Amino acid sequence: MASLRGAVLYEHKKPLKVEELELPDPGPGHVLVKMMASGVCHSDWHIVKGEWPSVPLPSVLGHEGAGIVEAIGPGVTTLKRGDHVILSWMPQCGLCEMCVKGFPQVCNNDRRGQVKAKLKGSGKEVFMLAGVGSFGSYSIVSEPTAVAIDKDMPFAQASLIGCGVSTGVGAAINTAQVQPGTTVAVFGAGGVGMSVVQGARIAGATQIISVDMLDNKLQMAKEFGATHTVNSSKEDPVEAIKRLTGGQGVHYAFEAIGLVEKPFVQTIDATRHRGMTIWVGHAPEGLNVTISARAVLYEKTLIGSMYGSTRPHVDFARYVQLYKTGKLKLDEFITKRFTLNQVNDAFDAMAKGQVARSVLLFE
Ligand SMILES: [Zn+2]
Ligand SMILES: [Zn+2]
Repeated sequence: MASLRGAVLYEHKKPLKVEELELPDPGPGHVLVKMMASGVCHSDWHIVKGEWPSVPLPSVLGHEGAGIVEAIGPGVTTLKRGDHVILSWMPQCGLCEMCVKGFPQVCNNDRRGQVKAKLKGSGKEVFMLAGVGSFGSYSIVSEPTAVAIDKDMPFAQASLIGCGVSTGVGAAINTAQVQPGTTVAVFGAGGVGMSVVQGARIAGATQIISVDMLDNKLQMAKEFGATHTVNSSKEDPVEAIKRLTGGQGVHYAFEAIGLVEKPFVQTIDATRHRGMTIWVGHAPEGLNVTISARAVLYEKTLIGSMYGSTRPHVDFARYVQLYKTGKLKLDEFITKRFTLNQVNDAFDAMAKGQVARSVLLFE
C-alpha cells in the first residue's frame, strides 16, 4: 500500500483539490512509480473545462510524467527498482496489427492501467488519468507505460517527453517525415506547436512559419526555430503563408491548436499542391470541420497525428539524446515550476498564455 498526494478533479470548471490518497501494491504486470516531475498539458485543461466529458471523474489528472520505479509487480521483466522512467499515455500491447506494423501509437488494445486510488479515510475511488495520473506523488502503471531512460536526464525535462514534446516533434519527424530544405507552417505556438517547430528544424526544414494570435508566443517560437511569424489576429494566415512561399503554400502545414474549426481548414488551404496537412490538435469532442470537396484535389494529403506517431520504446531515447546533444531545447521550454499545491496556479498561467510549459515538481 502506497500513500500519495494527488491533485483531483471532482467537477468540470472547478479547481483541483490536493488530497491524501492510497494505492494498492502493484499487481501482475504493473509497477509503482514515484513521480518526480509532471508537465501541465493543454489536454488536462481541456478536461478541467469539460471539453472531453467522456473522461471519468473524479480523477487525479496529469499524463506527462517522469519518475523512479519503486516496486515491481509479478511478471514484470523490462523494468527494475531504481529505473528512471518517462510515462507514456498510450501503452502498446505489442501484438495487434498496428503494433506489429510499427504504429503502437494507434494500438488496437488499450493497455492503460485500470488501477484506481482511494481517498484516505472514506475509501472513495479516484481514477488515475490515462492510466498515468502524473499529478500524484505516486502512480501504479502498466509495464509498457513506463519506459526506462538514462539516469543523467533531468526529470523536469524528461517529463515533457511524455506528451507535448513527443506529440509535436514526432508529428514533424515521424508522421510527416519533414524533408530537408522544405517549407513548414505551424498553427499554434503552445507547447505542442513549438515542439513541431523544433521537430521541423531538427529535420532540416529551411522555412518554418509559426502562426499564433499572441506576439509573446510568436517570440518564443523564434527561439525554437521559427524563421517567420504570422499573427493571425492581425492578418489572414493563409494569405501571409502564400506570400512568404512565392504563392505556393508550404510543403507541410500543421494544426497544433485543437480548439476551433477555422485553423483546421486554414492548414489545408495553406498547403501547396502534393503537400501534406497534419492535424495534431486534439479538438473538443463534437467539434466538426467543413471543407470544400475540392480542398485536397491537387493531391494534398490530410493526415491526423496521434501522439506524434511516437513509439515510446524507440523515440523517448532518441529525444533524450537530441536534448543531451543540444538539438532539442527543453530547458527553454520550462517557463514556470510549481509545487503540487500550486497546480491551479499552473492552469491560470496556461489560461493567460504566459507559458510554453509549466512543470510540477515533487520532492
Ligand atoms: Zn498532453
Ligand atoms: Zn497493440
